[in-house]
Amino acid sequence: MIPTTAEAIKFFLSSKGVKPSLQRIKIYEYLATNKSHPTVDEIYVALAAELITLSKTTVYNTLSLFTEKNIISSILIEENETRYDANLTHHGHFKCVKCQKVYDFNFDLSKRQIDSLNDFIIAEYHAYIKGVCKKCNKT
Ligand SMILES: [Zn+2]
Ligand SMILES: [Zn+2]
Repeated sequence: MIPTTAEAIKFFLSSKGVKPSLQRIKIYEYLATNKSHPTVDEIYVALAAELITLSKTTVYNTLSLFTEKNIISSILIEENETRYDANLTHHGHFKCVKCQKVYDFNFDLSKRQIDSLNDFIIAEYHAYIKGVCKKCNKT
């Protein structure tokens, strides 16, 4: 379960050893309630009006800290565009080349077998698919 209320987020961040400042709570809340896999810029633009002292550097540093503490994960589909995700369960990402949206899909490798990797230990895996989403395909 991803915490979404200020109280629950406060508790969650503390339990991960992160001091829950207002800016950190707001940044996490944005990620937890917007499943769009936002970039640093998108988060900054969305919160800047409400948090007038917020800087882009703070957003960047907060997201780095969260990633380091396994509070969120970072997704790198394009080389120059890091996106962030509060959903830590294993899932794949589909990026639409038309609308640039990133969709989640269920993907659990643990139930399958990769033939050529017998006796290998898999520490992490990522699945990225690019294409055209259902919505854009209809237009
Ligand atoms: Zn699309
Ligand atoms: Zn995701």
